[in-house]
Amino acid sequence: MAEILKGAPVAAALDAETIAAVRALKERGVTPTLGILRVGERPDDVAYERAAIKRCEKLGIAVKLSELPADVMQGALIARIQRLNSDANVHGVLMFRPLPKQLDERAACEALMPSKDVDGISTGSAASLYMGKGDGFAPCTAEAVLALLKRYGVELEGKNAAVVGRSLVIGRPVAMLLQAANATVTICHSRTRNLAEVTRRADIVVAAMGRAEFLTAEYFSPGQVVVDVGINYSEAKGRLVGDVDFEAVEPLVRAITPVPAGVGMVTSAILARHTVKAAGGAL
Ligand code: NAP
Repeated sequence: MAEILKGAPVAAALDAETIAAVRALKERGVTPTLGILRVGERPDDVAYERAAIKRCEKLGIAVKLSELPADVMQGALIARIQRLNSDANVHGVLMFRPLPKQLDERAACEALMPSKDVDGISTGSAASLYMGKGDGFAPCTAEAVLALLKRYGVELEGKNAAVVGRSLVIGRPVAMLLQAANATVTICHSRTRNLAEVTRRADIVVAAMGRAEFLTAEYFSPGQVVVDVGINYSEAKGRLVGDVDFEAVEPLVRAITPVPAGVGMVTSAILARHTVKAAGGAL
């Protein structure tokens, strides 16, 4: 039986550190504040927003919510981002994406100053992630993967890691973070040939594909650590499932994250942590 790498204990350990850092900031008269910018009312955004607000409240982080209508024009969106940039009482900004079609999402991401970009959406944040210096943060989910591996004591140095997915939100930043931790990383994508051969050879497999239970037992081998970032709705099962076929893979590998209750649980703890860091907190 594999060790089940649940997200809740990781989030709890991170939160304990965050609470201490928030207390120290408040003693200096600073209340760390997260600005949330939501355009329209996509149910996914509203659900994540609710979870983020709940976690921030629990940790003593203030939230300033900016809502814009789904038909907002580019100029008004950029003006709102600039207002958040210049608001000294807002330390971090989370902007939900995708944005509605009429908006230039890339330009909106670039308008956000990297030092407040707590979910790593700007080029400045990406540059600091890829170069190891500069302002900005890694995308929260990517960092959540690393936090989870670290808390469970998974050794990365010198290990082979296969990341399935190359998006800017998860696949590529996870690969960079694993590499920074001295793993040897292979980034796989939809044109990768013989994917199962690549994943079977790895010590650590991170699945970030967005394909419900795509990775079946043939993609894995004994002794592996599997992190499933995927969140997909399975019509057949009537519930959320990951990219990995958990029931088939769990008996085979050394350790595996569940979906839900795995990486997803850690993501908002990282968001809170980034906000506190952006406010000058010691974390
Ligand atoms: P995405 O932008 O759609 O990227 C998916 C990646 O998977 C792409 O690089 C794609 O390759 C690759 N891929 C797709 N089919 C493949 C196949 N058959 N073989 C190999 N690679 C394949 O998705 P994303 O935004 O990175 O999200 C990935 C998953 O994470 C989704 O399920 C999403 O819901 C979930 N997610 C989880 C959290 C969390 O907190 N746990 C947060 C955000 C997202 P190409 O580049 O070649 O197309």
